Amino acid sequence: MRILVAEDDAALRKRVAAALHEAGFAVDAVADGGQAEFLGQTEDFDAAVLDLGLPGMDGLSALARWRDAGRDFPVLVLTARSRWHDKLAGFNAGADDYLTKPFQLEELIVRLRALIRRSAGHAHPRLACGPLALDVNAGRFSLAGDPLALTAQEFRILAYFMHHPGKVIGRGALGEHVYEGGFDPDSNALDVLIGRIRRKLGPGLLHTVRGQGFVLRDAP
Ligand code: CA
Repeated sequence: MRILVAEDDAALRKRVAAALHEAGFAVDAVADGGQAEFLGQTEDFDAAVLDLGLPGMDGLSALARWRDAGRDFPVLVLTARSRWHDKLAGFNAGADDYLTKPFQLEELIVRLRALIRRSAGHAHPRLACGPLALDVNAGRFSLAGDPLALTAQEFRILAYFMHHPGKVIGRGALGEHVYEGGFDPDSNALDVLIGRIRRKLGPGLLHTVRGQGFVLRDAP
């Protein structure tokens, strides 16, 4: 899962990015509203954390442009202002959730996980595919009831598959949702990661679809 963070307060931006990394997300963090708007139009994010008061372009304008262009990833708006009409303007522009500064990083993460889960069409915070389960709120996988130890990159990949079970996911799309910044779809890094995850899962879950990509499915 890949998150766009747009926040011009450098200290807060770094804290948010570090906390999201720690929670298993890939993070692209920017300070400028125009840059945020551009990235949101051109890259595939699973969610965005958007400050309203940004240099270059204010957060509400960036959000409105994304929605006008049909970019529908969930957006959690951050603002120092708690006045009701700012919130209303945020929701009208297409925000999905709201946090008023100062906030707890734990709350930001819980809300983001819920937004991403719901936007993928899952009502329940526990996702399952055969013996594999993901507790979305805790950010933990289990396999046949036992905790499954994963590196940060393995977690990101498997979490993306868990949100889209049964769907064939191409290399390019997978790279977009797992890596920050650029991604070379010809690199074999992705194959190495997939291979490692497969060994941890055992056979019958993460399948290769020749010429198309990969699919998570509980089938032999
Ligand atoms: Ca700001």
